[in-house]
Amino acid sequence: MERRGLLYIVSAPSGTGKTTLCKQIVHIVPNLWHSVSCTTRQPRPGEEHGREYFFIDDRTFQEMIERQEFVEWARVYGHWYGTPRKAIADKLDQGVDVLLEIDTQGAAQIKKKFQDGIYIYILPPSLKALRTRLQMRAGDSAEEIARRLKKAREEVWSYREYYYIVRNDDLKQSLKELESIFIAERIKTKRLDIGWLEANFILDKEDKEGES
Ligand code: 5GP
Repeated sequence: MERRGLLYIVSAPSGTGKTTLCKQIVHIVPNLWHSVSCTTRQPRPGEEHGREYFFIDDRTFQEMIERQEFVEWARVYGHWYGTPRKAIADKLDQGVDVLLEIDTQGAAQIKKKFQDGIYIYILPPSLKALRTRLQMRAGDSAEEIARRLKKAREEVWSYREYYYIVRNDDLKQSLKELESIFIAERIKTKRLDIGWLEANFILDKEDKEGES
């Protein structure tokens, strides 16, 4: 039987470099799909509808909540963000692994429903480095940056809820660590395909004769 896909959940304080890491890791690890969330915030320069996010208005978002189309949703920095349920269920059913890049509130909601999820937290090297990164990013106002920094200071402590911590000092090293997590999780004993084991290691009569 085809195995069901695994669910990887990646969170980080804003500006940690999580999006860059997640965008790159799907090109490194095969059979991994990056879920596209819905949000009510405005696109930043260079962002495209359907690629980074589905950019929708408040009313559409509320209607989607009512129709239970989100597997989780949360208000982050004054905007709504939600993970569409159907797309991820379809991928998992097809045996494709799914990467959710969501905030700590969303991850906590998912953790209640998917005990088998793999929870990864990315940390910046320091608050100082985080401030610099947020200031360099296009599209956010000074107030927005201050708000994100304040939240980051509190959010760092959410690391306890996650199973792996990647300290994003150096992009190459962080990608290596992330890749190791994705690969190691796939080869855990509990995920062994028993059908494959039986098909290949239960001897038939001919093999038994050859053995003696
Ligand atoms: P940004 O506006 O910088 O793209 O994202 C702000 C925060 O919202 C980030 O922490 C990001 O991971 C989170 N986020 C993005 N999509 C979702 C989602 O579908 N659900 C939740 N809970 N958070 C999300």
